[in-house]
Amino acid sequence: MADGVVIGAGPNGLVAANMLADAGWDVEVLEEQGQPGGAVRSDRGVDPEFVSDVFSSFYPLAAASPVLGALRLEDEGLRWGHAPSVLAHPLPDGRCAVLDRDVAVTAASLEGFAPGDGDAWLDLHDLWGAVGEDLLGCLFTPFPPVRSGLKLLAKVRASGGLRLARTMLLPVRRLGEERFAGEGGRLLLAGNALHADLAPESAIGGGFGWLMSMLAQTHGFPVAVGGASELTAALVRRLEGRGGRIRCGERVTEVVVRGGRAVGVRTASGDAVRARRAVLADVAAPALFTRLVAAEHLPAQLLEDLRRSFQWDFSTFKVDWALNGPVPWTARQAGSAGTVHLADSVDDLTRFAAQIATRHVPDQPFALVGQMTTADPTRSPEGTESAWAYTHVPQDIKGDAGPDAITGSWDRREQEAMADRLEARMEHYAPGFRDRIRNRRILAPTTLQALNANLQGGAINGGTTAIHQQSVFRPVPGTGRPETPVPGLYLASSAAHPGGGVHGAPGANAARAALRGHITRTVVSTAQRALTQRPSTRG
Ligand SMILES: Cc1cc2nc3c(=O)[nH]c(=O)nc-3n(C[C@H](O)[C@H](O)[C@H](O)COP(=O)(O)OP(=O)(O)OC[C@H]3O[C@@H](n4cnc5c(N)ncnc54)[C@H](O)[C@@H]3O)c2cc1C
Repeated sequence: MADGVVIGAGPNGLVAANMLADAGWDVEVLEEQGQPGGAVRSDRGVDPEFVSDVFSSFYPLAAASPVLGALRLEDEGLRWGHAPSVLAHPLPDGRCAVLDRDVAVTAASLEGFAPGDGDAWLDLHDLWGAVGEDLLGCLFTPFPPVRSGLKLLAKVRASGGLRLARTMLLPVRRLGEERFAGEGGRLLLAGNALHADLAPESAIGGGFGWLMSMLAQTHGFPVAVGGASELTAALVRRLEGRGGRIRCGERVTEVVVRGGRAVGVRTASGDAVRARRAVLADVAAPALFTRLVAAEHLPAQLLEDLRRSFQWDFSTFKVDWALNGPVPWTARQAGSAGTVHLADSVDDLTRFAAQIATRHVPDQPFALVGQMTTADPTRSPEGTESAWAYTHVPQDIKGDAGPDAITGSWDRREQEAMADRLEARMEHYAPGFRDRIRNRRILAPTTLQALNANLQGGAINGGTTAIHQQSVFRPVPGTGRPETPVPGLYLASSAAHPGGGVHGAPGANAARAALRGHITRTVVSTAQRALTQRPSTRG
């Protein structure tokens, strides 16, 4: 019997397991897939000479996360790599907005789009300097973030009070228009907001786009040298070094509840694994509460909220490429960036988001592109590029805005048609791109889900990032905390506050709650024992 059982070996599950092991708990992690890592995995599946990240690639949130920092994964052999520049947004006419770790270089790039836009970027950067650290403190600590919240409040007052709060709430289109005269700065902010499912007109898109842009500015978009699996390997090595165990190929089918408390899990192979102290679920919220825990243990309101109001984020369609040479960008500066965003304008992004909102597969998809060999030369032979691009499609498709009649069945024809559409986008900005393709691998929404059950329908963030599903509204209206209605069971995945991305905060919050819950329980039962054992004072 373990003290703690963790369901799922994604980054959040592994962070939680490490923290429990640090506290001296005997921990067992059960993972459905054949390998640990969740959406943090790489392989040689596209071409034996190329390392490809299957899901996530760029880890600014990990670099900024105090949770992952405290685990000192560098001591486990993890090394970070950086592309010469962080992010590029090329336009078909050859202009290119470049975000470089040197803020003066970024400012100079934006100044080229409109006089004054360089200073506008520097202003946003100064604002980050004043409040950024406390803002991250609020995000990465359990809700409510009392200490970091008070510090942030004081800084917000000093940096413009309500005006700053308004900036955070703005849609990214509006923030861009207020701050920049040219398209370059507007596109950097708006493209970064679309790392989450935040359209140019969504509330808080401005705050999120600014946050991602400033993480890019201060931490870059680092990659794990050797591939995303190296980040997972470091977490696994650290855990195993502290006595923790991971069993892969074990799908948990049930959280066992006795006497109103989670006491273990059952797996698809029929194994019963008991948990002396707690069960932590690195599992999507709907899966945990509608499949793993029997309804009789849950309040009807929770199930009703999940049914009625829980919202998945956009679905995702990804293509990995092994390229015989670098991407032949018209805007040559894009060649030195790790991440490249493809959209002709903010209007183009609005059109893309509107097509998704109306449940149509976008005809000219916004693409996020990764140039992995540019960021980490170990990924493929010299002169070649290990690259990928992904875009978003609706979870529930009504029609195709393009010519291919994609229905969402994602059969072979639809997968090939959508991959061709992404390649056409690449050609639009990099004529001759197709001639460089040695191999490609398609990861349709159905494939993503088959490789990781948490990526329901191709959702990548455990549920929408929209304001109505953040903090106390995540995953459903409640406390915003990892405790569940079942004592001893904690939600540790990106479905919990503060949501998606590789930063480990949901896992850490769940581990802290489990440790605290155990201490409280121990104190209470010790006190009860002491009371029942005390000799009676009455005759
Ligand atoms: C294509 C893609 C690109 C992304 N790009 C980035 C990026 O560049 N940077 C970034 O920071 N984030 C990125 N993300 C998001 C990030 O990867 C996720 O937010 C993060 O991995 C969430 O971690 P998690 O531990 O909550 O869940 P996951 O990583 O999804 O792990 C969950 C694990 O639980 C297992 N599991 C589920 N159910 C069960 C069960 N019943 N029994 C046993 N095991 C189970 C799954 O198999 C999986 O291994 C990307 C995601 C995707 C899909």
